[in-house]
Amino acid sequence: MGEYIMKIAIYPGSFDPITNGHIDIIKRASSLFDKLIIGVTDDNNKESMFDIHERVAMIEGVVTDYDNVNVQTFNGLLIDFAKLKSAVVIIRGLRVLSDFEYEFKMAMMNRRLSQKVDTLFLMPSIQYVHISSSLIKEVAILGGDISTYVPRNILDKIKRKISAKK
Ligand code: ADP
Repeated sequence: MGEYIMKIAIYPGSFDPITNGHIDIIKRASSLFDKLIIGVTDDNNKESMFDIHERVAMIEGVVTDYDNVNVQTFNGLLIDFAKLKSAVVIIRGLRVLSDFEYEFKMAMMNRRLSQKVDTLFLMPSIQYVHISSSLIKEVAILGGDISTYVPRNILDKIKRKISAKK
């Protein structure tokens, strides 16, 4: 009998900040795999509201209930990080149709870079299909109510960040 090989998945993103949409995906992915690594990285095209250490701490604060989930940062190619962690799957969330084109290209490129890692798309619950970290920040900055889209402690951190910048 062969030795059981742990199935490790990586859920990469900038998580600036983590939202209930991300948490929905984390919940689904953590039940499908033995171990889920949330890979936090900087998006070079966007200026972030929270630095990478703040983002990691915020995620850690909301995933404490999931024993098989841990949070790590990475730089450079996602596929290199996946190999380093012996992950077999990259998890991405699919929301609206507009996500598809970019995600499809990334998945094909990552497959080209490594045949050993597949990309798996998960869809969130319907109440989160239209939200992104960017949209949430935009609404919060303008004073809109985002309380149904982020956990309470994340909401407090967003509010504090916005008032510090004023
Ligand atoms: P990135 O810059 O890599 O897109 P994000 O933090 O914006 O980083 O998103 C990370 C992943 O989470 C992506 O796969 C994205 O599609 C997914 N995601 C973001 N928001 C949601 C949501 N509301 N529902 C489901 N998946 C989401």
